[in-house]
Amino acid sequence: MKSLLIRGARIVDPSQRIDRVSDLFVDEGRIRAIDEGLSPEGAEVVDARGLIAVPGLIDMHVHLREPGFEYKETIASGTAAAAAGGFAAVAAMANTDPPNDCAAVTEYILEKAHRAGGARVHPIGATTRRMEGKELSEMGEMVAAGAVAVSDDGLPVRDANVMRRAMEYATIFDIPVIEHCETPELHPGGVMNEGYWSTCLGLRGIPRASEEISVRRNVILAETTGARLHVAHLSTKGALEAVRQAKERGLPVTCEVTPHHLLLTDDSVRGYDTRAKMKPPLVTEEDLEALLEGLADGTVDAIATDHAPHHEDEKQQDFDHAPFGIVGLETSVSLGLDRLVRPGIISLNRWIELMSTGPARILGVEGGTLAVGAPADLTLLDPERPFRVEPSVFVSKGRSTPFADWELQGRAVRTIVSGRSVFTLP
Ligand SMILES: [Zn+2]
Repeated sequence: MKSLLIRGARIVDPSQRIDRVSDLFVDEGRIRAIDEGLSPEGAEVVDARGLIAVPGLIDMHVHLREPGFEYKETIASGTAAAAAGGFAAVAAMANTDPPNDCAAVTEYILEKAHRAGGARVHPIGATTRRMEGKELSEMGEMVAAGAVAVSDDGLPVRDANVMRRAMEYATIFDIPVIEHCETPELHPGGVMNEGYWSTCLGLRGIPRASEEISVRRNVILAETTGARLHVAHLSTKGALEAVRQAKERGLPVTCEVTPHHLLLTDDSVRGYDTRAKMKPPLVTEEDLEALLEGLADGTVDAIATDHAPHHEDEKQQDFDHAPFGIVGLETSVSLGLDRLVRPGIISLNRWIELMSTGPARILGVEGGTLAVGAPADLTLLDPERPFRVEPSVFVSKGRSTPFADWELQGRAVRTIVSGRSVFTLP
């Protein structure tokens, strides 16, 4: 493989507290040097003046839909969409058909991802067999095959005793238990946040307590078992407060938030737009403010998209019947650069921590750093490049996004995995 010289980029790497203009040299799939005036012989030179080079971005919450739902997304289309969105790696949730609850499925996913040649895939195994919430999955054999965490995401583990055993078991392999925190008993048939808008629209509500009760229960079980708990797509002020308190007490609890929960509220549902139907549902201005505060003060550990592609026909049903979920891989970077970094809500350094270094640390995977010797996974960003969200040209098979037609500034222009460009913007 040809070596690569990234010339004149602003290099921002939170893991090494680097923020300076320099050259970066990549050889044999690894980062070899960051220095000024490098001119190694035979290297392909990328003129990166005006661009920002950062550790390859990692989306730790993605649904690739294969095996079983290839009409929604495949591993090939999902990893290509990830690369096009600036992600060098994604973690794939287990709710496929069959679910990823044993080594055979884990191996299948990795093999398909390897052949697809887009972003790296880190499989997440199911917490319970067939994701039924009853018996534990084969965590040991899945971890041996390459799984980096367990989660029944899409569903919470409802039985507290099963969750306790799952956490105890996960500590043996030192993997995080990623939990979709929801208390479904509270809201049969709920389709959106319970509040002013659900009343106006006559739609059944999901109370914000649904998430908070579940987070609090899981924090208590994490304390009981010593397990690493990671709260997926955290959306409410109360749940964030629960994570903040857990961290203050020194518990190994982490959380992620999605771009849509940081930028939209439940008034997006007005007009019964199914592009605003997701789980957890969009909530209120008060929650949104709290999440932005959590981004800035360090309570939030990662931004993840919960990329959940569905077929257009499914999303075009009426609000009650359309499935929950939207796509996110190709909008996340521009939304972050334009709506979080540009207005100064968080620094560029902090955003990269949330988009790369944080997820790598939580999942315990390589990446998230430009340290010499690390795999050459990096993303080049152009902070000035305009980006209009046009679902019709998405690489993902999914088209449903509440950000359609948004005009943003800043986007990923090149994604490099193991020293190989897997996406280059023309
Ligand atoms: Zn999800």
